[in-house]
Amino acid sequence: MPRKTVARIDTGALRHNYRLACRLASPARAMAVIKADGYGHGIREVARALADVAPKFAVASIEEALAIREAGVDHPVVLLQGPHSFEDVATSAREGFEMVVHSDYQLDWLEQAPATPKFWLKVNTGMNRLGFASAALAQVMARLKDHGAGEQVIGFVTHYACADDISSGFTDKQTRVFAEAVVDWPALEKSAGNSAAHFLPGQPLFDWSRPGIMLYGASPTLGKTGPELGLEAVMTLEAELTAVRTLQPGESVGYGCSWAAEQETRMGIVGIGYGDGYPRHAGTDTPAWVAGSRIRLIGRVSMDMLAVDLTNSPAARPGDTVELWGRHVSVDEVAQHAGTIGYELLTGITARVPRLYDSSGDGPV
Ligand SMILES: *Cc1c(COP(=O)(O)O)cnc(C)c1O
Repeated sequence: MPRKTVARIDTGALRHNYRLACRLASPARAMAVIKADGYGHGIREVARALADVAPKFAVASIEEALAIREAGVDHPVVLLQGPHSFEDVATSAREGFEMVVHSDYQLDWLEQAPATPKFWLKVNTGMNRLGFASAALAQVMARLKDHGAGEQVIGFVTHYACADDISSGFTDKQTRVFAEAVVDWPALEKSAGNSAAHFLPGQPLFDWSRPGIMLYGASPTLGKTGPELGLEAVMTLEAELTAVRTLQPGESVGYGCSWAAEQETRMGIVGIGYGDGYPRHAGTDTPAWVAGSRIRLIGRVSMDMLAVDLTNSPAARPGDTVELWGRHVSVDEVAQHAGTIGYELLTGITARVPRLYDSSGDGPV
């Protein structure tokens, strides 16, 4: 019998969240960002589950784009970092991948390649990771025109640094810089806006938004959980309650004896740990859920197990299923207790945790 440590994936919830992204993005269209193995949910299954509703996908690398093809999905796929090698250019032309070109060396590859795929130009508006300065765009466009590769330009992309923070003025600033940088090419398409930008009041998303984390039901916005934003959890992380015991006052549990009972405490051991991707930094008081009640972690997370306080759940028995995050406990709450964000937790679930897919519901529209 395998361990009962599993990640259940609800593709109906995924579709619900994608539809919400479309409503918030309208009149822009939404390309579904499914990099990092679909944020840990399985890129092939995520691509198939969204294929009939999403017109375009976006990923970080050519391997991820090829995985979408292996899944039998032949939609346009945007490579958000463009080609990582000269060979990627030919592969993209053959497979219908759209490259986001951010540097001169990539333009060199484009000009040397026998066939040019469609591509976007990345504009740096203040994130300062990738992209051409807005002042350099005219020169880049002139170079492409001379070469002829310019006919394959779809348009322009930029990326926001602070859209998760509603009180930041930086997104407005980046939006103005972007709009101004591309004003000379009104016929070309524009793409700006990660998940967080969908929840900023009055924020323009141009022609294509790029929702990622929100599709999986986790919050992109500081101080809000996914459910508070109308999102549904896609992944429910479960493990088994493998032991139940009672600690006497003064007795501790786990490595480092970091937590000790103040009074007689019924506690349980759950078969999941940081070897499965559950965060070791999730300390005492991190919420979990069992047998209809919220419970809390106590002591340190080990590689293969963790401890919970069962005071709130007198009915819990060995063999019961514990939810670490999902429908009852949002991954955002766990992330907050672990000093990180839902993105890191979802993408960090390790290969030893089987993903089990449930497509029975189509999700509320
Ligand atoms: C990952 C990524 C996104 C999606 O971001 P979320 O915050 O997950 O919505 C959008 N655009 C680019 C360029 C990205 O790299």
